Amino acid sequence: MATFETDAVVLRTLRYGESDAILALLTPGLGRVSAIAKGARKPTSKQGGRLQPGVRLQATLVEGRGDLMTLRGTQVIDAGAGLWMDGYRLRAAGCVLEAALRVVPEHEEAEAPYNLITRALSLIAVAPARDEPPRLDPYVLGTQAKLLAVSGLVPHLASCAACGGPPPLEGFSASAGGGVCGACYIGSGAEALEPAAADALVALLARPLAEAPECVPPDAAAGAERLIALMLREHLGVTLKSGTPL
Ligand SMILES: [Zn+2]
Repeated sequence: MATFETDAVVLRTLRYGESDAILALLTPGLGRVSAIAKGARKPTSKQGGRLQPGVRLQATLVEGRGDLMTLRGTQVIDAGAGLWMDGYRLRAAGCVLEAALRVVPEHEEAEAPYNLITRALSLIAVAPARDEPPRLDPYVLGTQAKLLAVSGLVPHLASCAACGGPPPLEGFSASAGGGVCGACYIGSGAEALEPAAADALVALLARPLAEAPECVPPDAAAGAERLIALMLREHLGVTLKSGTPL
């Protein structure tokens, strides 16, 4: 059976049986995969303590009969210690990991999402706690916006996504793919578009993730989150648990 040596980020760990764990991993070459770590939860296991969400590993993965791979060996590249020092950071990291788990498809090359998620985790590991909830952290929103982009779902916000007409845009229609002009908005069922939220999303998409805090004024964060959530729900059928209910 094929064996792969790969970098991987642990997205989620689930208990399985008496002593095993099933991991959701994000890898650059294999994409998102599930792998069983046999014996990982035995007290004597050397692996167990390393397999926490957010940890970056070098992993040896062996193909199985179905979709489930077997994790043979691991070496920690980055334990994400900074994430565990602060509840705010841990919850923000949880939002990023959940987004990757739900948005990145299984078994498809995922170099761009992998680089994005590892970058996000390293930024959050040194991020200051903010007054807003962690799900509205600029790095969380920036990561979600860039996951939209790597999924081919960049919202169109430069002109009307429905008729191509010029701004100002008054509504947001996820089904049309972005902002819509006043004429297309009326009676369409689209949501009102807050200009500050649209500006924040455009900036998050255009600028490096490290600059996300400069892209999102605190009063625009919830609106930007909502625009991202509408796109995810409309086009991927994904509603993030860490987000606000739609
Ligand atoms: Zn229009």
